[in-house]
Amino acid sequence: MSAIVLLLLLVFAGAPSAEAIEPTPTGPVLRIVPAVRYDRLPADGDGGSFAPRVRSLLAWYQDAAPPGGLAVVYTPESRESFPTVLMDGRGRILSRGTSFRWGTGWLSLIGVPPTARPGGHELWLPGIHLPFRVTARTFASETIPLSSTLTTLRTQPDPRKTAEAVELARLLAGADPAAVHETGAFALPLAKPRRTAGYGDRREYLYDDGRTDLSVHNGVDLALPEGTPVAACGSGRVVMAKERIVTGWTVVIEHLPGLYSLYCHLSAVNVREGELLTKGQILGTVGKTGLATGPHLHWEVEAGGVAVDPDLLTAGLPLVPGRWPIPAAAMPAAAIPAVD
Ligand SMILES: [Zn+2]
Repeated sequence: MSAIVLLLLLVFAGAPSAEAIEPTPTGPVLRIVPAVRYDRLPADGDGGSFAPRVRSLLAWYQDAAPPGGLAVVYTPESRESFPTVLMDGRGRILSRGTSFRWGTGWLSLIGVPPTARPGGHELWLPGIHLPFRVTARTFASETIPLSSTLTTLRTQPDPRKTAEAVELARLLAGADPAAVHETGAFALPLAKPRRTAGYGDRREYLYDDGRTDLSVHNGVDLALPEGTPVAACGSGRVVMAKERIVTGWTVVIEHLPGLYSLYCHLSAVNVREGELLTKGQILGTVGKTGLATGPHLHWEVEAGGVAVDPDLLTAGLPLVPGRWPIPAAAMPAAAIPAVD
């Protein structure tokens, strides 16, 4: 054994070890690998000229998250952005990350979809395959009967509805590389709300004609009386402020490149597209516009076009290595179903 190999072994033996995931009273704790040694990564075959450079610069990444969480990859010195992809055990792409300038390098946030199955996954960046684990998480199920009006609103083909869906999907899949506006924890947009639906709830809609439809709830529903002020959960730029058929009066804010918060069913909006908001600034009021059975705020957070759990980000944004606690899962009361 050469002296160099021995020295490397000694360095690795002294390297900080990954923290185990332990159940705590407030939920599981994510583990973040503080300094991935590139020569300890699994071998891969796709090489490429870009690969050795990224490989040698990869400083840390987060190796586990629940459905609705975020995966994070950081390279401290890379001069160029890099694509990142989350794949399941069978190599199917679940989501794509958004990379942006952070410190002296680039950071990439990758959303873990609410439908991701627990178990071994993989984060891919050019030339590197990083093991990633989706942790177990259970979601509530609920059944929501819809009136004939709401059945029509949800089921009737409507070119305007399709156009609006395409417009929003395009917006959420894009990113302004300079939009680094919020680096702290998100705040609840309403004070002391009553939760009527949680992130990732499995929903069965009962239409008035007896048919049913299954869907996954992409946000959290917070109920308070109509007219209650709604605050921005973090600083950011308003990229949409308009009335839509399904989500009613809607505000979308970009907080980090590709990381957006959405506020739906508002009764009034008092911000304009392009406006820069600070965390806590009032952007509108609670309402029931669009597909809603009662006054509530549908609050949603999207990362690279994947809906992630807003409540997880109230513990902080995972932008530095360290513990990223997960608050206890939101308990949907569902006493009054508040749709979408
Ligand atoms: Zn909702």
